[in-house]
Amino acid sequence: MPALLAAAVLVVGCDSTPGPSGEPEDVVRGAANASAAPAATSSGAAAPATAGAATRPPAPANVFPVRAPSGTVRYGRAHHDYPATDIFAPCGSAVVAPAAGRIVEVATKDTWSSAADDGGTRGGLSFSLAGADGVRYYGSHLAALTAAARPGATVTAGQPLGTVGRTGSARGTPCHLHLGLSPICGPGDWWTRRGVVPPYAYLKAWQKGTQRSPAAAVAAWKTAHGCPRTPAGVPDP
Ligand SMILES: [Zn+2]
Repeated sequence: MPALLAAAVLVVGCDSTPGPSGEPEDVVRGAANASAAPAATSSGAAAPATAGAATRPPAPANVFPVRAPSGTVRYGRAHHDYPATDIFAPCGSAVVAPAAGRIVEVATKDTWSSAADDGGTRGGLSFSLAGADGVRYYGSHLAALTAAARPGATVTAGQPLGTVGRTGSARGTPCHLHLGLSPICGPGDWWTRRGVVPPYAYLKAWQKGTQRSPAAAVAAWKTAHGCPRTPAGVPDP
């Protein structure tokens, strides 16, 4: 039973270090190819919202969500209890939008307490991005958020949203970005937004600069389970 395996590998709370089984292969070569700079677009009034008629935006593309020096980023295939990936990187590394879309939820304050351990605050500083591809990208435990990480903001893939930290239930662990993939449900549905489809294979592709979309897997999950209204509505992985 997978749950047992996961529990054996990762015993601490959410976001403990990847267990012994998941490590060596997962040392990454940094996010070098996580594509170019955050498209320095907006210069206020100069950006007409409707100018797109002639130039159609490129198809939604994914980029690796952490930018850090080569060899300093690592993540494993396993995650405790449910599908997600903890991407370990030096504290303060840039967290960027994994896809183009709209910010739908943000937690700007770390209100988590170990005593209450409320699922809704475990993420500490966090964001939910409703991707143009129909995937919700949830990133948590950030040390800080940029001005672009505010509800309603439209972001491009690769746009900086904050920095890697250890807020929420990651307090006391090595800095990392928790990434969850889920359908665009919610808001407030922490049991779904924290992740229902494993990001590992996608992250591996994005890191190499290869396009691989989680949209189909997420859509299939939604077809099967809808938008669960309680934690009990999310099946065991
Ligand atoms: Zn995690």
